Amino acid sequence: MKLLLHTCCAPCSVYCIDTLRNEGIEPTVYWFNPNIHPYKEYEARRDCLKEYAKLINVNAIFEDNYGLKEFCKNVIDDLENRCINYCYKIRLEQAAKYAKENGYDSFSTTLLVSPYQKHEAIKELGEKLAKQYGIEFIYRDFRVGFREGQEKARELGLYMQKYCGCIFSEESSFLTHSNIKPNLPDGFEFLPVKRNIIINKEKKDKKQYINLLLEADPSEKMIEKYLKDGDVFILRYKDDVACIAVVTKLDNDTVELKNIVTKEEFRGKGYSKKMIKYLADNYKQRYKKMIVGTTENNIPFYVKQGFDKYEKTVKNFFIENYEEEIKDGDIHCIDMYYYSKDL
Ligand code: SF4
Repeated sequence: MKLLLHTCCAPCSVYCIDTLRNEGIEPTVYWFNPNIHPYKEYEARRDCLKEYAKLINVNAIFEDNYGLKEFCKNVIDDLENRCINYCYKIRLEQAAKYAKENGYDSFSTTLLVSPYQKHEAIKELGEKLAKQYGIEFIYRDFRVGFREGQEKARELGLYMQKYCGCIFSEESSFLTHSNIKPNLPDGFEFLPVKRNIIINKEKKDKKQYINLLLEADPSEKMIEKYLKDGDVFILRYKDDVACIAVVTKLDNDTVELKNIVTKEEFRGKGYSKKMIKYLADNYKQRYKKMIVGTTENNIPFYVKQGFDKYEKTVKNFFIENYEEEIKDGDIHCIDMYYYSKDL
């Protein structure tokens, strides 16, 4: 698929590009943001995107067009509705037109990552322009990865802007910033910024958690197998690791929760539940289903967390895959039971 990705700035592009690339789509970044004010801010955002595009080796096109006067003329009579009536429209229309004229078969926008934008209006407009220009609009609710993308951008030292872009948003960032609430997808919430609990993906030395993972899966050999390609998530309470989970990809639609453990002193506080909710939100953009294999004793716990569809039983799993006898409480484990939840 040849996708032209209208890009408002480097930090917002991080999660969108990562997600598209994970789906096997290589986007071309398209810079067209004529109303960013003042000009120095426009330059800072544009130049940062140039650097970032080089860094991640993504193809990028820059339409240099600084249009402050044009913007002011067009929005002055209805400042309240400037985003929908003008700002989104000129960006997306320009992207759709450029894509159509230059052999792309689809277009999209990084504006879809921001919980501070009018998400539904952007989606609707993209779909309308798609029909008008005879080209596909690739819609994704990138908002679920907003915080992850911003954190990565900060780690990379990308230029982080303090307001949306235009002169009026600059003014309101000083006057009303605390009143602007993020608009998130249904059932999704960001953990508070100043928080004792943080969940994040661990990318460094995954093996450092092996002792904790052994509490749920006594075979080091098995853990090493799935740890190699698995995503490891850590829930920290203050500075301590309270809960850990490992998730692997099974196929294009399905991920498997391979291991989840809450440290003894943190049990009974709902941390596993929080972790499972976080994982579901994290994967629901790219996958349809999450499965988990469990011993008989733990089936009620997983069913309560939404894994309510029985998938299969693997007979003698614990006998054939573990050298030692596996016990769950008083029960001698023999078969593995698989349940799934829709994401
Ligand atoms: S607030 Fe942001 S989206 Fe709205 S008009 Fe200004 S720059 Fe565009």
